[in-house]
Amino acid sequence: MTSTTATRTRGFTTTAVHAGQEPDPLTGAVIPPIYQTSTFAQDGINVLRAGHEYSRGSNPTRSGFEEQLAALERGERGFAFASGIAAEDALLRAVLRPGDHIVLGADGYGGTNRLITKVLAPWDIGHTAVDITDLDAVLAAVRPGSTRVLWLETPSNPLLGIADVAAWAQLARDAGALLVVDNTFASPYLQNPLELGAHAVVHSTTKYIGGHSDVLGGAVVVGTAEWRGAPLTEAVGFQQFAAGAVAGPQDSYLAARGLKTLSLRMERHQDNAQRIAEWLLERPEVSQVLYPGLPEHPGHGLAAAQMRGFGGMVSFRPAGGEAAARAVAEGTRLYSLSVSLGGVESLICYPSEMTHASVRGTALAVPVDLVRLSVGIEDVEDQLEDLERALAGAS
Ligand SMILES: *Cc1c(COP(=O)(O)O)cnc(C)c1O
Repeated sequence: MTSTTATRTRGFTTTAVHAGQEPDPLTGAVIPPIYQTSTFAQDGINVLRAGHEYSRGSNPTRSGFEEQLAALERGERGFAFASGIAAEDALLRAVLRPGDHIVLGADGYGGTNRLITKVLAPWDIGHTAVDITDLDAVLAAVRPGSTRVLWLETPSNPLLGIADVAAWAQLARDAGALLVVDNTFASPYLQNPLELGAHAVVHSTTKYIGGHSDVLGGAVVVGTAEWRGAPLTEAVGFQQFAAGAVAGPQDSYLAARGLKTLSLRMERHQDNAQRIAEWLLERPEVSQVLYPGLPEHPGHGLAAAQMRGFGGMVSFRPAGGEAAARAVAEGTRLYSLSVSLGGVESLICYPSEMTHASVRGTALAVPVDLVRLSVGIEDVEDQLEDLERALAGAS
């Protein structure tokens, strides 16, 4: 009998459970051990038993997670860092040189903006912020010869705008620049930017990948692109080793464990988010709902085409303006008033002063009447009851 399964590529969840996560060859432990070690015994000078020398360079627990994530992002290699921001910093310093310029999607994580404007700008890195849905503005912002990176977040934070990744990738190629996509909100379960033409993907693994709000981490996954005459994998790998903001073995273990159930959690997150977005739309206390799963969302068609679902983040604007937004954010009980997102528990946030305080008063400021939900996996009826009470109390 001939096997037809040999050529089939494994499904997402099978890959999530098994890639880089083989049983321990020494003991048969089904779960690879947490290699809590800084250094590795050598069998002779520079004769390494399994390729590991020192845990800043590589550690088996970290390598297992990097392999697992790279497989899910359809990348060449993954690199795990101590936080999402550390991953972003390593990638940008690997590819940029003084005098270079970044085109940055305006609606994005406040910390990314702070990294570029406060940490990198003094090293002579310029940037221009653009509306992610306006491709003419992206093209106009490109400075031939000095724009080296186009940086995009889609869905964006906190307005949940959708950008055309393939079109941005073409603009990057035409400019001789790299397209980096922050894929934190979608996660690799819903979107693979490398397959849409991006050169690198970054994640805050703190969010959906870790999935339980119990670990901080970040990752870069790169494809086969060459950069300044060498594979991009080499530039990022060197930066990770030489600057050293690596993920530790405990954190890598938690991220890998979370990643195994990403598909199951994400299905529930987005089922609940869709229900809640549709429910909010009907509420008289709500003037606008921002969720790409709603047909009236301007990016709905694009999201349906380039994503495999619409995710678990919902933003909305209460009809009562800023005062009502503040009151709703402070008025829930099940939803915890917290920054961050992507954990199993529901969180509510007032972005203008919580996640985006660093851009308040600038052109990148977010609306003061905006509320953001990280919709958790709890029973949706309990979530609706909580939101209904908070909305009633706020109006
Ligand atoms: C949280 C977040 C980051 C930063 O990650 P940390 O793990 O907090 O350093 C970057 N991008 C997005 C979209 C995020 O939500």
